[in-house]
Amino acid sequence: MTPNELKQEVSKRRTFAIISHPDAGKTTITEQLLLFGGVIREAGTVKGKKSGHFAKSDWMEIEKQRGISVTSSVMQFDYQGKRINILDTPGHEDFSEDTYRTLMAVDAAVMVIDSAKGIEAQTKKLFQVVKQRGIPIFTFMNKLDRDGREPLDLIAELEELLGIEGYAMNWPIGMGKGLEGLYDRANNRVELYRPNEDGERYLPLDETGNIAEDQPLRVDSIYSQTLDDIELLSDAGNQFDLKKIMRGDQTPVFFGSALTNFGVETFLNSFVEYAPEPGPHKTEAGDEIMPTAPEFSGFVFKIQANMNPAHRDRIAFVRIASGEFERGMDVTLNRTQKPMRLNNSTEFMADSREQVTTAVAGDIVGLYDTGNFQIGDTIYQGKQAIQFEKLPQFTPELFMRVTAKNVMKQKSFHKGMQQLVQEGAIQLYRTYSTDDYILGAVGQLQFEVFQYRMAHEYNSEVVMTPIGSRIARWINPEQLDEKMSSSRNLLVKDLAGAPLFLFENQYAERWFVDKYPDVTLTAKL
Ligand code: GDP
Repeated sequence: MTPNELKQEVSKRRTFAIISHPDAGKTTITEQLLLFGGVIREAGTVKGKKSGHFAKSDWMEIEKQRGISVTSSVMQFDYQGKRINILDTPGHEDFSEDTYRTLMAVDAAVMVIDSAKGIEAQTKKLFQVVKQRGIPIFTFMNKLDRDGREPLDLIAELEELLGIEGYAMNWPIGMGKGLEGLYDRANNRVELYRPNEDGERYLPLDETGNIAEDQPLRVDSIYSQTLDDIELLSDAGNQFDLKKIMRGDQTPVFFGSALTNFGVETFLNSFVEYAPEPGPHKTEAGDEIMPTAPEFSGFVFKIQANMNPAHRDRIAFVRIASGEFERGMDVTLNRTQKPMRLNNSTEFMADSREQVTTAVAGDIVGLYDTGNFQIGDTIYQGKQAIQFEKLPQFTPELFMRVTAKNVMKQKSFHKGMQQLVQEGAIQLYRTYSTDDYILGAVGQLQFEVFQYRMAHEYNSEVVMTPIGSRIARWINPEQLDEKMSSSRNLLVKDLAGAPLFLFENQYAERWFVDKYPDVTLTAKL
């Protein structure tokens, strides 16, 4: 690829993740996006029938039928001349640190909110991670076909709960049974929920911002209410500010209904217009690697264990930070300075028959891994060593006590513990006095994967006793007195030996702070 071709290819990439609380409609909207991208032909194809979530078997079925390579982790398709990468951020019981780390590999995020519920707990957590990255966040207020909360309330909540300005790109005309359409400020039109008598879906706005007089909607009281809201928004609302959007200080807000495929295309078109192409990535040395740099580089943001017992391998997900990926290329793994040949990879192009697959900066490749990679690893081509900035570790919220089932197998138990923890997918602590193993994670799934892998890769059955959810707070070792520990605040040390308390709940923490006012507790090391 010539430098110019690379530049062109990179500028086409739009890589993002959808964040939401379970049931807000992420699966449904993803499916609509895939429909627009031509990846699937029919709604309902990727839906798990009972759970309403991606069913892996359905994906495999699609792969078979269409001869394409899609997984639920990364979905890629071409749309309007752009190559879109959607990275899945599992919710529910699948929630894990991977979910957070995936957000390190995207250039933008889409936040799907149930308009009847507003901002919910998981959305808030994920939002905070995205916000720290300072990348653009697009908001889709979903389920407009149902009665929801006042749109003005929803916008206000963005500011109050998340501290981000909302700019309404469009505005509902009614909702639930009374849903008539969207007043589309960004495109100067009204988008009708049901086509009018002439079969029109879109009505242009005149210079006064109104639809034509002969449209029946014009005399509808719901419509005049919308016009009032729009006036209020124009006078007192936020001004559209692309710079703020790019920094993540303002979010463009779209309304719609994923289930009835209303407003999704409008959203997608705007998203493609405004979402950024891949940007530079910082190295630990403080340099910035440009995506159009000719030599390949990338970092591992997620390692997925193969749950099939017949295969021990794993897939390391690499976000390409610069250059072009080619199968069989020689790279260096920076942590070990070991050369490696990337023979065994998988790209995530949805429809390989229409496009030659090239993977460039912005894309994700999956490398079959037999234990070489750790989360946060950098691989690069060329002589100049590169190490991208460390991926953040997220403070665990769930804890388990772990022991080996068979005391005779302590050796494989310790080996497995050590190696899996080193991979970076789960956190290990030891109790202060007794040196018991305690595992910490942000989601239940990590424990299950851990237990599975201990059994299948290290032949070590582990017994896990749930401790439950705890608040982890580090304490300055000089201030520590072991007597401070009690059943409500378990004292442990992390891998580096730094002491921390696992508080039973907020009250336990507050009680502690009251009792020891001079002690400083920190949420992260
Ligand atoms: P996820 O957990 O965020 O992936 O949510 P899903 O996409 O599985 O949706 C959860 C439930 O909400 C499902 O029953 C969907 O059919 C439903 N749903 C999703 N979008 C809409 C919508 O726009 N309107 C209505 N009425 N229901 C929706």
